[in-house]
Amino acid sequence: MQICNVCSEQTPKYRCPTCKIRYCSLACYKIHKDTCLPLTQPSRITVDKTVTLPEPWNVEDLLDEDHYTDRVPLEILQRLGESQELRDLLHNPHLRQLLRSIDTADSKDDAMKAAMQEPLFVELSDQCLQIVENK
Ligand SMILES: [Zn+2]
Ligand SMILES: [Zn+2]
Repeated sequence: MQICNVCSEQTPKYRCPTCKIRYCSLACYKIHKDTCLPLTQPSRITVDKTVTLPEPWNVEDLLDEDHYTDRVPLEILQRLGESQELRDLLHNPHLRQLLRSIDTADSKDDAMKAAMQEPLFVELSDQCLQIVENK
């Protein structure tokens, strides 16, 4: 049989909504609420915090960094536009169509793999690499 957590005399009829202790009457509740502390759930709070805290780094950040170091500076990209060899290659409508399909492809990886089967595209990318690597 339970007794009131406040006066320890009566049978408790109520339960404190905050800390869940039992009490018998409004008079006991008034005494209790001054010292009432919310129920703490330390383990759950800790788990929630670790889930929402940002991690110092993740795999995606590392990939982004690699992409960034692989990126060709703008002035070298502009050199591509000045290349007569590239312009000659791009006179080919089949190659232009191929480039357009890569540009609009949902999966660039798949589109690039398919394009690398095309000798014309390989020639184009070789030409681009020559220009980019020519210091
Ligand atoms: Zn009581
Ligand atoms: Zn309470």
